Amino acid sequence: MTSRPGTNATQPTIPMWVGGREAFASDGATLDSFNPATGEVTARFPNATADDVDSAVAAGIAASREWKRTTPEDRGKVLSRLAEIIERHAEELALLDVIDNGSPIREMRRDAGMAVDALRYYAGLVLHVRGETVPTSFDRLNFTLLQPYGVVARIIPFNHPFMFAASKIAAPLAAGNAVIVKPSEHTSRSALRLGELARGIVPDGLLSIITGEGRVAGDAIVRHPEIRRLAFIGSADTGRAIQAAAASVAVKNVTLELGGKNPLVVFPDADLDRAVLAAKRGMNFTWQGQSCGSTSRLLVHRDIYSEFIESLAGSIEGMKSGSPVDESTETGSIVNSLQYDKVRSYIEIAHKEGSRLVTGGNVLTDGDFANGFFVRPTLFADVDPQSRLAQEEIFGPVLAAMPFTGYDDALAIANGVRYGLTASVFTESLRTAHRFARDVEAGYVWVNEVSKHVHGTSFGGVKDSGLGREEGIDELLSYTQSKNVHVNFESSEA
Ligand code: NAD
Repeated sequence: MTSRPGTNATQPTIPMWVGGREAFASDGATLDSFNPATGEVTARFPNATADDVDSAVAAGIAASREWKRTTPEDRGKVLSRLAEIIERHAEELALLDVIDNGSPIREMRRDAGMAVDALRYYAGLVLHVRGETVPTSFDRLNFTLLQPYGVVARIIPFNHPFMFAASKIAAPLAAGNAVIVKPSEHTSRSALRLGELARGIVPDGLLSIITGEGRVAGDAIVRHPEIRRLAFIGSADTGRAIQAAAASVAVKNVTLELGGKNPLVVFPDADLDRAVLAAKRGMNFTWQGQSCGSTSRLLVHRDIYSEFIESLAGSIEGMKSGSPVDESTETGSIVNSLQYDKVRSYIEIAHKEGSRLVTGGNVLTDGDFANGFFVRPTLFADVDPQSRLAQEEIFGPVLAAMPFTGYDDALAIANGVRYGLTASVFTESLRTAHRFARDVEAGYVWVNEVSKHVHGTSFGGVKDSGLGREEGIDELLSYTQSKNVHVNFESSEA
C-alpha cells in the first residue's frame, strides 16, 4: 500500500510529529488510510524510514534532558492539560477511529474517555515514583533513586487506536521520559491528531508520533540503540520477533502485551441469565471480536450446555450489523482485508474440524455492506478443545463453545492453550470461584464479571500472552530504572 507522493494526490498527506514539528518521511513515501467499512481511501500518511526514527530519538534525547529536571507536579500538570484537550475533542477522535478501523461509533466514543482517565490517573500518581531507604548501620544510609530511561517507545495495535496512543504515553511521561508512539499502519489517524493536539502542551520533542510499516518504522524503533525501553502491544508472533530483534542490538527492557484465547467458564450453579449476557459481551462482538481480552472460548458445564448455547445464540442473533457511523449499529466492519480473510479462513477451518455452526458464519455483501469487511457474529458449538478453532487466536467475531464435565476438566481445557491473558468464571460457589482464580493460568481473572478493566489494577498476561503489567502503578514504575546509593557519613573524629 506504499505510494510515492503524487500517486494519490487527491488525498492530503497528514504529517507526523517529530521534535514538536510536522514531519514527512525522509524519502517522501506515504501509505493510504482506508475506511474498511466503505473501501474509501480517506487520507495518506507518512511511511517513516529509519532516518525519521533517528530524528525522533535525537529530539527525544534533547527534550528529556530538560523534562527529567521538572518537578513531578509539573509533569502531572502537563498530563492533566492533555487530558482536558482530549476531552474537548473526544467526538472528533472517536470518528477518526471509526473511519480507520470500522468499529461502531457508540463503542469508539468510550475510548477517548478511557485515555482521559488514564492520563489523569498517572497525573495523580506522579509523586509515587519514589524509591526506598534500606536500614544499614548507624552512620550509613542506603537509598534508591528511580530514574527515567531517556527515550522510550510504545508500539501499538489497530483495535483501540486512540485509546492506546493517548493512554500509553501517560506513564512514560510521568516518569520523566520522552516517548515515541508508533501506531498501527492500519489505524494511524487519531495518533497523528494526538500529536497535533499535544503541541503547546507537551514540550517539543518529548512526544513523537512515527507512522509507517511495522517491518520498517517499527523495526527501526526496536533496533535503535538509544531506545532501551520498549513496550509493545500486538500479536504474540510480532512480540517474539521484537524481543529477538531488540536483543540482537542491545540489552533492552521489552514488555509485551500480546494475544489471548481466553476462557469463560460457566458452572451449573451460575446465574445463567447473567452468564449468557457475559458470554456475548466478553466476546466483544461490538469490536468485531478484535480485542485481546475477548473471552473467545466458552466452556459450559454439560448439564446446562444445550440450554445455554440456545439462549446465547438468540442473544447474538439479535445484534445489529451496520455502518459504523450509524448510532444504532452494534457490530461493524473488520479492520482490513487481511483480518477479514483470516476470520473467514477460520470459519472454514471450523467447518472442516467438525464444529457445529450455531449462528453467524456468513459475510454481508449487499447494499451498504458491499465494499466493507462485514462478518456476522458467529458461534460454533461442540468445538474440540484441541482443534485450531479452540487453540488459535482469531481476533475476529468467532466464539468457540465446548462442554465440560467437572472442575478438573474445565481447568484442564482452560489452561490447555499457549496463551494466558484473561479468564472469567461464573459460579455462585465461593469455593469454586476462589479455586478457579488461583488455578487458572491468566494474568487477569473475573468472577461473575467479564471485560472490565479497573484503573489502578495491573493488566497483562502469562505464557505467550506477554510479559510485564500495565494500567496500574507497575506501568509507571516500569519506565524507571532503580539506582542504589550507599552513603557512608561516618566521621573520622568520632
Ligand atoms: P501486530 O502484531 O500485527 O502489530 C502491532 C504493531 O506492531 C503495529 O503498530 C505494527 O506496525 C507493529 N509491528 C509489526 N511488525 C513489527 C516489527 N517487526 N517490528 C516492530 N513493530 C512491528 O498486531 P495487530 O494486528 O495490530 O493487533 C492485534 C494483536 O494485538 C492481537 O494479537 C491482540 O490480541 C493483540 N493485542 C493485545 C493487547 C493486550 O493488552 N494484551 C491489546 C490489544 C491487542
